[in-house]
Formats: sequence, structure tokens, C-alpha cells
Amino acid sequence: MKIAFLGLGIMGRPMASNLVKAGHEVSVWNRSARQHVEGARTAVSPADAALEADVVWICVADTAAVERVMFAEDGAEKSLREGMIVVDSSTIAPSATLRFAEKVNAKGVHWVDAPVTGSKIGAESAQLIFIVGGAPEPVEYLQPLFKSMGKQVIHIGDTSKGQAAKLCMNLMIALIYEGFAEAYTLAQKQGVDPNKLIELIQASMVRSGVVDYKAPFVLRHDYSPNFPLRLMHKDIHLMLDAAKESRVKLPALETVDEIYELSSEEGWDNLDFAATLALLQKWAGLGGQPKVTPPE
Ligand code: NAP
Repeated sequence: MKIAFLGLGIMGRPMASNLVKAGHEVSVWNRSARQHVEGARTAVSPADAALEADVVWICVADTAAVERVMFAEDGAEKSLREGMIVVDSSTIAPSATLRFAEKVNAKGVHWVDAPVTGSKIGAESAQLIFIVGGAPEPVEYLQPLFKSMGKQVIHIGDTSKGQAAKLCMNLMIALIYEGFAEAYTLAQKQGVDPNKLIELIQASMVRSGVVDYKAPFVLRHDYSPNFPLRLMHKDIHLMLDAAKESRVKLPALETVDEIYELSSEEGWDNLDFAATLALLQKWAGLGGQPKVTPPE
């Protein structure tokens, strides 16, 4: 299949690379020109990338970025032909997804929202889980591509329902991590060995995938970005917006949002969201700035 891949960040670059490895013909585009993918054609614009493609796959930061790569002067929309599929693996607003889908549908093009979970390690190892919204036919057609980049596809429902479900899932990640961070900080103050605390957590009913992923990084003070704090903060705002639209109250998330606001004011936007732990440690008198010790 011919795929245009737009956005070569922490997630997009390994995803595009895995498509190349699976034998697909891939053209890539990234806003800042420094990113390339071995075996893929580097396009000069999203429209250029999409010229001969069957599928346009997007993985950029946020709603505004998706709008830019699709609908700007040199956006991929210019090269859309009837029967093509646009797949969006960015995490963006469900309401904007519906708006974008309507625009491309008018040209006989399908829109499939397919945000992911699995983070950097999942993207690099082709173990992502795709959380999908869209019509059954294009979703079925995309199966070989999902398989090249991931281990599971969960088809949630119609267009935008993938984004809606992804936000609900990330809401839990933010709250579970905050629970872990508070327990970790209190345990430290009480003189509990952090390794022993994690052994207990992982042996008990509070075990979680979030702690499985984050604890090794936290133990070695490695806050280099797997999922940057600025992106989780963006997702928290998307969740709070969706809650407002749906007249749902999310008091715990509102408090966690304040932790992210203050962490952002500390200048930690480009660290992993795990660095929010360092704010609790600072308040507890356990040291100020998060140390960043990238793996050797
Ligand atoms: P990232 O490393 O920050 O990469 C963001 C990408 O978006 C880069 O290619 C960036 O281009 C591009 N971009 C940003 N603003 C743009 C604009 N206005 N116009 C065009 N391109 C723009 O982010 P990531 O971690 O790959 O995440 C990508 C998406 O996946 C996000 O929606 C994120 O929430 C979601 N996600 C991330 C993770 C994770 O663990 N990292 C997990 C699940 C889902 P430049 O290189 O020029 O900046």
C-alpha cells in the first residue's frame, strides 16, 4: 500500500519506520525538516506526501496541528482523491474530528480516528493498541497497516468515538499516576525504601500498567520524554472540555490539572509527565528540580 505519513515525533517516526519495514511504500513529511525515515521518500509538503497515496496517516501534536497538515494551503486535502482514507493517530478533540471528517467525506474520502496507547516503547516495538472510530469498511481495509505498527485494534464505534474513548483512558492514566506519585512521596517521607514500595504495589491489587511502565524511569530519575508533560496537559484540557460539553463533573482531574499547570510553570513541559512527581517531592521538602538521567 502507498502511505503518506505526516508527523515524525516520538510516536510518528517509529510508526512510519515500521510501515517501511513491513514493505509498504511510504512518503513522510514533518514540520521541521530535520526528521527523515530510512526507506521512505521525504516530501516537501503534506500535499506532496499525499500525491499518490492510498492512505494519509497523521500523528501530530494536537487539534491545531491536524488542521494545519490537512487543510492549510499546502495541506494533504489538496491531494485527496475519492476512495482514499485519512487516519488520525494524534489525540485531538472528538468534536474537531467530526468537523474534519465531514470536510473530507464531501470529497468521497473516509476519516478514521485511530489514537494510540503504548507510548514510545509501544511505537518502537510495533506493540501499539489502536483505539478506533470509523466505518467498518475502511477499518477493515486498514488492518494490515494496524498490524505493521501495533498488536491490537479496538474498534470503539463511529467516527470520533476512538478519540472520545482515548481521552477517557488517558484520564485514568493521569489519575493513576498521580495516585502513585502521592504514595511514592509519602512513602519516601516515611522512610520506606522506594524499591520495596514498588515491589509491594506490583504484588498487590493496586498493580497497574502505568506503574509497570513508569516505575523504572522514576527509580533512576529519568524524566526524558516518553509521553511529554505538555501532551498529557493538552489531553487533560481536552478531557475537561469534553466534560463541560457533556455536563460531567471531574473533580479529581481538576486538581490534577493544577499540578500540571504548576509543573508547566516550573519549565518541565518537555519532560515526561512522570516529572509531576517532582512537584510533590518539592512541596514535601524532598528536593527541587527533577533530575533527568537519560539511559546510557
Ligand atoms: P511529539 O514528539 O511532540 O511530536 C509532535 C509532532 O507534531 C512533531 O512531528 C511536530 O513537528 C508536529 N507538530 C506539532 N505542531 C505542529 C503544527 N502546528 N503543524 C504541523 N506539525 C506539528 O509528540 P508525540 O509524542 O509523537 O505525540 C503525537 C500524538 O500522539 C499526540 O497527539 C500525542 O498526544 C499522542 N500520543 C503520544 C503518546 C506518547 O507516549 N508520546 C502516546 C499516545 C498518544 P516538529 O517536529 O516540527 O515539532
